[in-house]
Amino acid sequence: MGTVASVVVSNSARNYDKQYDYIVPEALKEEIKPGIRVIVPFGKGNRLLEAYVFKVSDIQDCKALKEICQIIDASPVLSVNMLKLAAWMKYRYICTYSDAIKAMLPPGIGVKSLCMVRLEKTGEVRAVLKNILESLKTLNGECTFDELKALVNSRSLKKYLQELKDLGLVSTYETYSSKVGEKTMRVAYLAMSRDEVLEEIESSRIKKIQQIRILEMLIDNEYISVADIIRFSGVSRGVVETLKKHGYIDYKDIAIKRDPLKDKPVLPTSPMKPTSQQAAVIKHISCEIDKGAFSEVLLHGVTGSGKTEVYLQLIRHCLDMNRTAIALVPEISLTPQMVERFKGRFGNAVAVLHSRLSLGERYDQWRLIRDGKIKVVVGARSAVFAPLDNIGIIVIDEEHENTYKSETTPKYNAKEVARERCRDSGAILLYASATPSVESFYNSSPAEHGIQKGIRLLEMRDRANSMVMPEVELVDMRRELEEGNRTLFSRRLTEEITKNLDSKQQTILFLNKRGHSSFVLCRSCGYTVMCVNCNVSMTYHLHDDRLICHYCGYTVKNPVKCPRCQSNYIKHFGTGTQKVEEEIKKAFSNCSVLRMDMDTTTYKNSHEDILKAFREQNTGIMIGTQMIAKGHDFPNVTLVGVLAADSLLNTGDYRSSERTFQLITQVAGRAGRGLLPGRVIIQTYNTEDFSILSACSHDYHSFYKQEISVREKLNYPPFTNIATIILSGINDRMVFNAAKETKNALEAMPGAKDVMELLGPSRAPLQRIKTKYRWRILIKCGNIDRLINILSQLSDNFYKKKGNNTVGFGIDINPLNML
Ligand code: ADP
Ligand code: ZN
Ligand code: ZN
Repeated sequence: MGTVASVVVSNSARNYDKQYDYIVPEALKEEIKPGIRVIVPFGKGNRLLEAYVFKVSDIQDCKALKEICQIIDASPVLSVNMLKLAAWMKYRYICTYSDAIKAMLPPGIGVKSLCMVRLEKTGEVRAVLKNILESLKTLNGECTFDELKALVNSRSLKKYLQELKDLGLVSTYETYSSKVGEKTMRVAYLAMSRDEVLEEIESSRIKKIQQIRILEMLIDNEYISVADIIRFSGVSRGVVETLKKHGYIDYKDIAIKRDPLKDKPVLPTSPMKPTSQQAAVIKHISCEIDKGAFSEVLLHGVTGSGKTEVYLQLIRHCLDMNRTAIALVPEISLTPQMVERFKGRFGNAVAVLHSRLSLGERYDQWRLIRDGKIKVVVGARSAVFAPLDNIGIIVIDEEHENTYKSETTPKYNAKEVARERCRDSGAILLYASATPSVESFYNSSPAEHGIQKGIRLLEMRDRANSMVMPEVELVDMRRELEEGNRTLFSRRLTEEITKNLDSKQQTILFLNKRGHSSFVLCRSCGYTVMCVNCNVSMTYHLHDDRLICHYCGYTVKNPVKCPRCQSNYIKHFGTGTQKVEEEIKKAFSNCSVLRMDMDTTTYKNSHEDILKAFREQNTGIMIGTQMIAKGHDFPNVTLVGVLAADSLLNTGDYRSSERTFQLITQVAGRAGRGLLPGRVIIQTYNTEDFSILSACSHDYHSFYKQEISVREKLNYPPFTNIATIILSGINDRMVFNAAKETKNALEAMPGAKDVMELLGPSRAPLQRIKTKYRWRILIKCGNIDRLINILSQLSDNFYKKKGNNTVGFGIDINPLNML
């Protein structure tokens, strides 16, 4: 008879990713509980590894088992619910336990926390205790437990400290937090784009685990102080220097900006009197919260309908009921205004988690949340893992956004994780958007005869204040060409920009960020080449001058004449923001221009700096990509121009109509947010497409009706699930063979052929990243559970097979990018 703990080893390889049993030594019995980290001897060599305790139980025979060596944490870093969530993620995203746990914990927790001891006051005590107090004094009254132990050298130090604590003479606390007070701080940032770094890691050009750990930290954070990197990654300074020498990272000195909201107290605000539409939504959802059972609501509210006020009042209701809340927003909408709205309402009960917190700050926030001192968490994707208990509501603002899906392992979708957490604590999951995703809208409906299936749909059709929707004008660029205008700007847009510059009002020009590929368009008639099988645009591939379908692999030769109108204005198309900037400077010689895209925001300036400059300096024109589409209020912006609305349609993705509709709607929402009314000019070579037309008339319902029928006809989500398996490696033939074998293995699985449609293997849209060739198998399957089961079996078999270690194997279920 003995006590055993089932543990999962941290950073384990796939084949060791399971729970192992260890004996709990008598001395640690009190302290070992689920969610605690421990050190265990592992494998033949008994390497000492960090592990998470999942379960503690009593068993009859444990002779053959090894013992746990020591414990790391004084209190659990994961609650029982979070452990359950990790197991669910392992299943759902076919990842390892450690991958799942890594996503849940703050990055700084990878090392042992410091237990600090502080002398509070002296007093008359017996000799052993007096000795401890004296030692503390020589250490300036405050030191780590280990430092004290080195001086006192007593096996029972812990016990004595407890005695001293009970007498009120000393106190102890855990810490990771960094020293403050420096004027500037040396920080490191990625010297290349995140994608490039990920490619370097995936292609094994960077192999050292310590280097990868640092780069991963920097992928998640805009910058981190060099001191924090060393402290939290547990590596030496040399490793950081090496990364700098090889050009992966660079340093800069920044002034320490304390959180401005910390210094400047945010004025408390009181709830606004809800409009009748807001009131109806608040009433309905408050009733649901009171029931204490899981349910889902989709709030479809036009831009400016006052959704944020609804969240604030619902969260207040949760707090009144002694429950907690999470609000997820896209990182880019975490603007100071947004933060102020939450802090103004909830004061110190709210934590805002954003990528610019230092690791120390983030760890502190995490601990405050875990210890129940914070009740409301606002943040981007990873805030879904905030260690709150007794959640009453999770809000997903702008629920249609791509940013809720993680593109690195574990490839989780925060919406699905939120759903799991809500189910677990009988909470309300509130999805909200002005342009709901087709999937969410399809799964929602108004209650009929009091019966609700799936997600309850609530709508707010009017703006909360009296701002009118901007006027939208469509310009046919084919006509411009016909009539001799070959520039990027239509005559109408030029006219309106001139007017705006004259009257010192601001203009935003929006351009779709071109992905890794481009498409072919006839500038004379608007024709684009579509795949005969898949109804998506075909993508131009430079190196063999052919067009390829990214779904089925179908290819055709690149046309030299337009098949429809015979003109030779057909060519692969695409204009970058940089080109637009040049053209603008040519056309409007003395106007001020700012540009915001991936290139200008990677590390030199942040979004916030550019946006602030635009607002404060009243810059004439801002050119930007998707990044400027959401969230921000610019009262003096009265004109928005969309340069090539149809370029969004030709991304070779089945969601391109949906994205076109969403982006035009969001971009148009940037105009006329102040007192002046707004105008929107949309330039396009395609004036017939329903997504562009319904966006112009602000008509979501008409867009949805047409889109859902296309999805049904062609069997795309939500009518099915799409999964991709990407195989990659240096030897093209080997990768291809592995892909072929994988497909055969899939086909051979019992029953698989009946429920799945398999496409490929074909070359992945990104055929080769750095040195690695990539082949892709695409799967459509209506039954998500069957799909997951089949794929995880496939993945297990793949990793078990010898000789497969030179080929990379990645699964993504319902990916947001088909690359
Ligand atoms: P959404 O998030 O739906 O686009 P916001 O929450 O940003 O809309 O609200 C739009 C504007 O309407 C904001 O300026 C907000 O202060 C204002 N507003 C919201 N609710 C009310 C209300 N009940 N009464 C007056 N103004 C409101
Ligand atoms: Zn043509
Ligand atoms: Zn196709």
